[in-house]
Amino acid sequence: MGLLSLIFGKKEKKGPAPKSQEPTAPVSKPIAKEEPKKEERPVANKITVGHVHMSGCTGCLVSLADNYEGLFTILDNYADLVYCLTLADARHIPKMDVALVEGSVCLQDELSVEEIKETREKAAVVVALGGCAAYGNITRFCRGGQWNQPQHEGFVPIGDVIDVDVYIPGCAPCPQQIRNVCVMAYLLLKGTPEQQALAKAYLAPLMALASEGSKATSSEACGCDIMTKVINQGLCMGCGTCATSCPVFAITMEEGKPNIQRDMCIKCGACYAACPRAFFSFDVVNQYENILGIIDGAMNPGGN
Ligand code: SF4
Ligand code: SF4
Repeated sequence: MGLLSLIFGKKEKKGPAPKSQEPTAPVSKPIAKEEPKKEERPVANKITVGHVHMSGCTGCLVSLADNYEGLFTILDNYADLVYCLTLADARHIPKMDVALVEGSVCLQDELSVEEIKETREKAAVVVALGGCAAYGNITRFCRGGQWNQPQHEGFVPIGDVIDVDVYIPGCAPCPQQIRNVCVMAYLLLKGTPEQQALAKAYLAPLMALASEGSKATSSEACGCDIMTKVINQGLCMGCGTCATSCPVFAITMEEGKPNIQRDMCIKCGACYAACPRAFFSFDVVNQYENILGIIDGAMNPGGN
């Protein structure tokens, strides 16, 4: 049983429906022998994953949970959730293979700055989970001046404070992409050489995004990214993916090209990340079927 199964309890198995609604007679039956409980054995070679909550809204964690049964499959087979203040009682950041970091860093909050630095020290792979961790997102608009911490006015993406390995942009990030990154991290750390190669191909563009975002000059995202980096470069093919990915409908397609209303943009970076002409990777696209196959196989370990 995985950690979340323990917390939420396993689903009750449905037994046969009762034959009638007649009131039951006073109990005089012999007490049925309890089935001996099966020994719970941890699955060998799982990776350890933590969720680190900085200045975020917990929507990224909800997005992880939106994998429903898929999350249980991951927790049962590939990853132990060793740290997550929302779901478990571990109070201190442990050593872990993968840290999924949600939220930006408040520079005036000493504890937050320490926490993100400690995360970097303790985690082999740091993932910026969601637009706030990756680009600052809505916290970019913070100006302080609010009771009871009016001095809390500067919020930066985690890449401004520490090195980040992988970005998963989006507000909220896509559940399937979080799931895929978890499975790929497992394969990268525990898989066969072939699986490791596939995991590298899948993660490479998200790592490239992280390395681009960690440069001080590009750590802010904006709808104008698709203007400057795609349309103005003659790369836009008018597919409309950017418009469908924008969580606040700041992009409309006009005469076949995206038009961005900047005063609506919350700076999440989803449009640029979703654009097929932004950081198009033939390494991934050429392996698309293999990657889908490996993820499908991972999510159905019993072959059902
Ligand atoms: S235009 Fe929309 S998707 Fe793009 S950064 Fe702004 S809010 Fe995010
Ligand atoms: S997703 Fe990229 S290619 Fe498609 S319309 Fe938007 S900017 Fe153009």
